[in-house]
Amino acid sequence: MNERVAIVEDEADLARLVAGELAKEGFRTRVYGEAESFLRGLAKEPPDLVLLDLMLPDANGMDLCRRLKSEEKTRSLPVIMMTARGEESDRVLGLELGADDYVVKPFSLKELAARIRAVLRRGKEGLALKKIVVGGRVEIDPERYEVKVEGEAVELTATEFKLLALLASKKGRVFSREQILDHLWGHDKVVLDRTVDVHVKNLRLKLGPASRFLINVRGIGYKVDDE
Ligand code: CA
Repeated sequence: MNERVAIVEDEADLARLVAGELAKEGFRTRVYGEAESFLRGLAKEPPDLVLLDLMLPDANGMDLCRRLKSEEKTRSLPVIMMTARGEESDRVLGLELGADDYVVKPFSLKELAARIRAVLRRGKEGLALKKIVVGGRVEIDPERYEVKVEGEAVELTATEFKLLALLASKKGRVFSREQILDHLWGHDKVVLDRTVDVHVKNLRLKLGPASRFLINVRGIGYKVDDE
């Protein structure tokens, strides 16, 4: 319990507000004012989730997110981007870089806490599932949080993993975007419909030829099936 949230934010007032609210909600928090101290703190006090500001004095949040998601040790660490810019392109870019969710400033502290809980819950729910094999080639092991294609491990973000595990849990069943959002984001559905498509696109790229088992059902949503 008492999950640790690293708040990487250079606006001290905002960081303090967020830390205060999250402490009230039962999280342990650590505030970092720049990327460098955060990266040093990462090894000493590994967080369960990172709240990452887009514009930091010594780094771009996007680059930092890309780095976290490309390194073995931090790949499955959930990241929520905090962006001041409301443009869809920024949000979509964040998700394409592997961020698990994003909030747009100014955001409600209650909403932020709900998003954090949803992202952490997503990570845990996967653990209840048993191993699934799709088409004899894609192996999904929720206990190890591992996906293998033809025996080769494929590195997925927590959200991509959860999405794939959800679709594969009921082969042949079509999940609408709405249902996928429900499962992955719970009741905190202040996300764009395109969010699902972006995660699916990323997942497809990583699955390579095996992505043919992940099928787009035009006008409805997605399904995973053996053939
Ligand atoms: Ca900033």
